[in-house]
Amino acid sequence: MQPLPVLIDSFGRVHNNLRISVTDRCNIRCFYCMPAENVRFMERKELLTFEELERIVRVAVRLGIDKIRLTGGEPLVRKNLDRLIALLAAIPEVRDIGLTTNGILLADQAQALYDAGLRRINISLDSLTPEGFREFTRRDGFEQVLAGIDAAREAGFDPIKINAVSVRGFSEKEIVPFGHFARRTGAEVRFIEYMPLDADNAWEREKVLFAGEILQTLSDEIMPLRPVGAHEPGAPATEFEFEDGVGRIGFIASVSQPFCRSCNRMRVTADGKLRNCLFSLDETDLRELIRGGKNDDAIAEAFLKSVAAKNEGHEINTARFIQPERPMYSIGG
Ligand code: SAM
Ligand code: SF4
Repeated sequence: MQPLPVLIDSFGRVHNNLRISVTDRCNIRCFYCMPAENVRFMERKELLTFEELERIVRVAVRLGIDKIRLTGGEPLVRKNLDRLIALLAAIPEVRDIGLTTNGILLADQAQALYDAGLRRINISLDSLTPEGFREFTRRDGFEQVLAGIDAAREAGFDPIKINAVSVRGFSEKEIVPFGHFARRTGAEVRFIEYMPLDADNAWEREKVLFAGEILQTLSDEIMPLRPVGAHEPGAPATEFEFEDGVGRIGFIASVSQPFCRSCNRMRVTADGKLRNCLFSLDETDLRELIRGGKNDDAIAEAFLKSVAAKNEGHEINTARFIQPERPMYSIGG
């Protein structure tokens, strides 16, 4: 088969990372992502099937994609997700498959996901108390997430990363407990700055609890941290460990220290729209190509055009910023 050009944009960034949303549905309602009520979810027939997703990935690997992450919505509410993992794990060029989940349904599924070939798992948890959990998610479920983390560990996932969105007025009280949690459990806790992708359009820069502030609190209250080198070029998190070598903390400082310059990601939404950035205002309809009977070259062409049109970076910190119409749950974070 003819090798195709790689996914390189007009700023020289090579893209090898594809994030795939498998559903926009979710079993909780985090305020920084979803509206509290009246969510209009995609209809079943709008979602790409596992076979359609597999086909997209088979085309994408010819363009240099070798890392996949499944997300949503909550990916574990999509039935038989382990079957999709197995389909993707069977593609030789796919070097790495990850999953981002809220962990609520993980206790029952961790082993099947691991057995299907999943190795990397990020579990989102913004608080270490049931009350704090409810404040963020507008639902109960804290104990289920803890059980999910335990089950992931028992199934063999290593490392396990915990994602905590940092929101001013909510996250301050979580910083030190999360520092101790990282030290006690060996899970890496990654603080993600709250981004303007909430369905309620309530984001303001003042509501972001910045990575620098969290780092300072951890250093003052537990002990200083030192930077550790990133494993992967293009990885969004800056990683630290406590000075005594026990406990890892990461920061995804999308607002205070944007990492667009090293971005290597593209995204496919659950309804088959290709996006070149979380914040892009345009998307390309892959589902229409697939269901319209177009061949693999047409899908490859859509990827190449999309990456060529990628902007230099998001403009969150400027007056020019326009929040995309799709909130996070419908893009796939
Ligand atoms: N439901 C799964 C979960 O929560 O892990 C996967 C989808 S969720 C959209 C992916 C990640 O995006 C989660 O870690 C979540 O906390 C994060 N996220 C959602 N909305 C965000 C926002 N407005 N700013 C920063 N991170 C956000
Ligand atoms: Fe659901 Fe994840 Fe969005 Fe929370 S962040 S509402 S768990 S999709």
